[in-house]
Amino acid sequence: MYGLGANAFDLSAVSRIFEVKNRPHFDPLIVHMPSASHLTDVAVDVNPIVNQLADHFWPGPLTLVVPRKDHIPDLVTSGLPTVAIRVPDHSLALSLLNRLDFPLACPSANPFGYVSPTTAQHVADQLGDHISYILDGGPCHIGIESTIVGIENGYPVIYRPGGVTKEQIEDIVGPVNTLTSKVKPVAPGMLKHHYAPNKSIIIGNIADLLDQHGPNQVGILSYSTHFDQVSNKRQIQLSANGSLIEAAQNLFASLRKLDGMNISHIFAELVPERGLGVAINNRLRRAASK
Ligand code: AMP
Ligand code: MG
Repeated sequence: MYGLGANAFDLSAVSRIFEVKNRPHFDPLIVHMPSASHLTDVAVDVNPIVNQLADHFWPGPLTLVVPRKDHIPDLVTSGLPTVAIRVPDHSLALSLLNRLDFPLACPSANPFGYVSPTTAQHVADQLGDHISYILDGGPCHIGIESTIVGIENGYPVIYRPGGVTKEQIEDIVGPVNTLTSKVKPVAPGMLKHHYAPNKSIIIGNIADLLDQHGPNQVGILSYSTHFDQVSNKRQIQLSANGSLIEAAQNLFASLRKLDGMNISHIFAELVPERGLGVAINNRLRRAASK
């Protein structure tokens, strides 16, 4: 994602993030740093599992929730006793972080609740009037937010599926549970309705939905199927040859495109529930949730 960064120790800078995004203060921010060697700057009592995961997946789309040091502002963590941290895998982001002597609190650079930005243009479109600079690092390679992992009772738990898959994590640390939205959210950002375009999304079997409602005024977001009954300009295939990696790259830009079309709603289907498909389906369900 493109992120909106502020010095994590500067309260007025962090406040501006919440203001610009219209983000509620109960939703904590992820703190970004240039390497795992900075972990102990912000964390205490680091569980060996955290070190193992950091060694394997940083830089990369994995956020680790750890007990925090006291000097991290409450505004960053929403008053939680933990802080979420990550080392991003992008040369521009890393070179920025390496030049700073403080970590950056960065949520995605979009208005709260809306589809996340995967190009500099997406950021300019929505926040351009409110921010001073945009560093253009090209389109995002992965296209979906980080996987968030915490430790509960000594065991790793996935709070949000994302760019690192459950299978990849389990290869390193063994079985991992995922907290679903039915469980009381530990991470305030596990909000049901999120990542959503303004148009309403209906998830189901697209062919059946078209049979029931007809093809007029609808946009289609499919995994790889083309629907002849709908005009080409109103349908997007996330990956024509069925690659979950490509589907993740295209997801948010596709939702934005559909949101800009002259349609009344979007019919979408879930992708295979494995690998990156778990994170894609999580975003689709939350975008569709009312
Ligand atoms: P994003 O808006 O994609 O930058 O992700 C921020 C999300 O990270 C929040 O909405 C929370 O779900 C999660 N998060 C941040 N800090 C914590 C924390 N201390 N404990 C649990 N989850 C956190
Ligand atoms: Mg976000």
